[in-house]
Amino acid sequence: MSQECIFDKIVKKESPAEIEYEDADVMAFWDVAPKAPTHILIIPKKHIESIDHITEEDLPLLGKMIMAAKKVAEKKGLTTDGYKLVINNGPGVGQTVPHLHMHLLGGKRMGEV
Ligand code: AMP
Repeated sequence: MSQECIFDKIVKKESPAEIEYEDADVMAFWDVAPKAPTHILIIPKKHIESIDHITEEDLPLLGKMIMAAKKVAEKKGLTTDGYKLVINNGPGVGQTVPHLHMHLLGGKRMGEV
């Protein structure tokens, strides 16, 4: 059985979030503690703990996450100046929520990775 986490609760609308995009498989909502003028998280609705836990069958879902990021970036007017997509994988590099998510960051100058 999958572990219930805060993002599962957001998916089920049991916890509040400022949602920017949603379809059958993917959701995008504002990070509660934004690190950039635009900081939106893109998640699969399916509970996948991290990149380490994806399987071949999840590959279409990862494509849908990228497509959702593109749509949100266009909606927020980020395509001219650019934006960063970040996935933290594992607590050692700062993953604090055990549900795969991609950070969409934009609206300010950012350095190289
Ligand atoms: P990470 O450090 O990569 O695991 O990113 C987790 C992100 O989730 C952090 O930037 C948090 O600020 C954000 N976060 C945690 N709880 C919530 C929440 N309830 N709603 C929106 N963002 C959240």
